[in-house]
Amino acid sequence: MRKTLLFLPGPVAVAESVLAAMARPLENHRGPEFAARLTRVADRLKPMFGTTGPVVLLGSSGTGGMEAAVASMFSPGDTLLACPIGVFGRRFAEIARALGCTVEVLDTPAGAALDPAALAARLEADTGKRIAGVLLTHNETSTGVQNDMSAYVAALREHGAISVVDSVSGFGASRFRMDEWGYDVVVTASQKALAAPPGMAMVALGARAIARLEASTCPRFYFDLKKALEFSKIGQTPWTPPISLVYALDAALDRYEASGVDAVVERHALYARAIRAAFEALGFTIFSRPGAHSVTVVAAAPPAGVDPGKLLDELRVERGIILSGGQAELAGKIVRMGTMGDISETDILGAIGAIEIALLDADAPVHLGSGVQAALRELIGKVGAPA
Ligand SMILES: *Cc1c(COP(=O)(O)O)cnc(C)c1O
Repeated sequence: MRKTLLFLPGPVAVAESVLAAMARPLENHRGPEFAARLTRVADRLKPMFGTTGPVVLLGSSGTGGMEAAVASMFSPGDTLLACPIGVFGRRFAEIARALGCTVEVLDTPAGAALDPAALAARLEADTGKRIAGVLLTHNETSTGVQNDMSAYVAALREHGAISVVDSVSGFGASRFRMDEWGYDVVVTASQKALAAPPGMAMVALGARAIARLEASTCPRFYFDLKKALEFSKIGQTPWTPPISLVYALDAALDRYEASGVDAVVERHALYARAIRAAFEALGFTIFSRPGAHSVTVVAAAPPAGVDPGKLLDELRVERGIILSGGQAELAGKIVRMGTMGDISETDILGAIGAIEIALLDADAPVHLGSGVQAALRELIGKVGAPA
């Protein structure tokens, strides 16, 4: 089998120790050993969310966690303010509509982060307090944009609406301070910066959210955070959990903790800077605006005349380098390169080199080595300027 390197913004390259953990024999999901493990995993996630409150684990991808959060917090007819900055934010709004909520949308120009002043103005204008909840995206994977989640806190607190955050592709790679910032529900998933396989969503609940579990009437059965919270107290899940994935997540947390949060946060930021520098040197146009760059995914349009789809195909077929294309209206316009998962500086340099070769093959004007050199300058900070 040919060796491939995964640079997707999820799922990501998973380390061997994490993959091997899934080969463990299964145990009783209602027995004491598994209960201890499930509780331990949830406890280890709490500081990553920045909360002392409960974290529940769901057998689903991240979208299931988003659906569970909306369904468990709100009731049909509730007005929610969605603040999409890309595809995943729009998905959040669609989930709320599907569950019978009335969704108002605060639009943001593509490539920009949500403007705190715009959110504040919108919430201040809601003098009748019609808005019951605000849906936010920490890191928008489709545009490579990251919101500064500390910037919305004052406006949200002032208004009092329940805040639900999709931090699926932000969690773990940047610090999240749920309790300090006062967010009510934060959702993440296993297959992004935690670098485990896909199939688990994790949801952190603040005190106001827990109180609300009783009142919400959106139709739900499987994705019910009230049931999930009750079972989590005895180290269980309401339904059969993906036991092997819990082993993997436990092993992924071992790796995360062995590095330490500071190093992990720094690594993602460094990789993102290196990739952006390389892309710029190679004539790509970075999609995210200055100050709004994600640390987990770089979205960029290739140089004029280079078809993103063909570039991705060549990288995959000829070099074993797997990047993503654009989604929705950005399909065929951009490529996206993730920084998450078990990837090394050497992997990044190899991928940038492969991109240079693919650009050359596409007859793009490339100064060979310029991308690698730009990345190196970020990664080791010692390489001189090109001659
Ligand atoms: C990956 C991702 C999700 C979840 O997608 P699933 O495929 O359901 O795991 C949600 N939001 C963002 C921002 C993501 O990057």
